[in-house]
Amino acid sequence: MTDAVDAAQTPTPRRKPKPARREIGGRPLKPSTLMMGHGFDPVLSEGSLKAPIFLTSTFAFESAAAGKRHFEGITGLREGGAEGLVYSRFNGPNQEILEDRLAVWDGAEDALTFSSGMTAICILMMAYANQNDVIVHSGPLYAATEGFVAKVLSRFGVTYVDFPAGATREELDEVLARAGSEAAQKGGKVAMIYLESPANPTNALVDVEAVRAARDANLAGCPIAIDNTFLGPLWSRPLDHGADIVAYSLTKYVGGHSDLVAGSIAGAKTWINPVRALRNTMGGIVDPHTAWMLLRSLETVELRMQRAGENAAKVCAFLRDHPKVEGLGYLGFIADPRQQDIYDRHCLGAGSTFSVFIKGGEAECFAFLDNLTIAKLAVSLGGTETLASHPASMTHLSVPQARKDLLGITDNLVRISVGIEDADDLIADFAQALEHV
Ligand SMILES: *Cc1c(COP(=O)(O)O)cnc(C)c1O
Repeated sequence: MTDAVDAAQTPTPRRKPKPARREIGGRPLKPSTLMMGHGFDPVLSEGSLKAPIFLTSTFAFESAAAGKRHFEGITGLREGGAEGLVYSRFNGPNQEILEDRLAVWDGAEDALTFSSGMTAICILMMAYANQNDVIVHSGPLYAATEGFVAKVLSRFGVTYVDFPAGATREELDEVLARAGSEAAQKGGKVAMIYLESPANPTNALVDVEAVRAARDANLAGCPIAIDNTFLGPLWSRPLDHGADIVAYSLTKYVGGHSDLVAGSIAGAKTWINPVRALRNTMGGIVDPHTAWMLLRSLETVELRMQRAGENAAKVCAFLRDHPKVEGLGYLGFIADPRQQDIYDRHCLGAGSTFSVFIKGGEAECFAFLDNLTIAKLAVSLGGTETLASHPASMTHLSVPQARKDLLGITDNLVRISVGIEDADDLIADFAQALEHV
């Protein structure tokens, strides 16, 4: 990046942005404030208030010695990665700003961005799992994640042990001990404890604090990673509860407008560095344009998630008492005391993605879905617009019936992601659609 400002006026041109101000008078600045400027210095870009999109495949070195030093970082000869920009498979200005800002939300030391949530999750797992290792994971997981572990990593000798979301400390101790002895028998180790909370589409929560205690007691040194797509970054902060790495599909709430696909991970540098090294080799970094879109999205993520959360609370209060509704899978109305306890310790809000159980089965759900006029019939979640879908016949169609029964994915379950429309309009739409059931 050439510093275009007259050198006479800026005697010490900088390549890196000024260290961002993170506090005022000893008071730490909140993420929503930092989203407007953190990690970007307009002086480095002709004074442009917003970061330009840097469409380039490579970056000019200031000297040959600097080029050598950068490659020492890239190749791992020196700890800590490159000190400057080198080549766009490794990083770029838009991605670096985005990674700095994503780290702010989770209180993480470092973050990495990817071309999709699944790229993030696959590269994360590949960075940690060696032949003969075991991955322990909560269930259910996002279907593609479950498939990657069971059908792809298995080809390289990696096996898995899973446990139901909501498992207690005693159950977790048993699962981790079993995984540890399975790994020892194979001559490997437990490579990772991988969680997803709340689980899709049941909204079952994982007790991250209990997982951390069980890990410390049974498998010291084994990283705990968690997919925080459904409640993060606003309503759940898993690093505060003992997770080491958070993973996101940025496609959902963070992107928030159903107009891009991207992913990320965040955590301490010691956990992130091996993943960065593999991303440098494989590629899979988010592109500069999508990174720029995500910077815009991050400026409003708090507003959007708050509004969507308020809407979901109003819509669910209406649906709960409706005669054609059998029940709700909404974190604002938890029936199970164990789940409520996990919620109280881990969650800052109930979010806006939930399940509604319609009295009847597939036919009644389809009648409801086909008569919605504001809500769109689509999979995905976390956008500004309300979406509705039928998991049993759509996202989870290929799941065997026995496993569907086990996970509670019934034919009368409709999945809803509430957007930021007017809540009364949404309630009116749900009310008229239910009349057609
Ligand atoms: C969508 C999603 C993913 C996958 O993300 P993509 O961006 O579609 O690759 C992973 N986990 C959860 C919980 C998701 O909802």
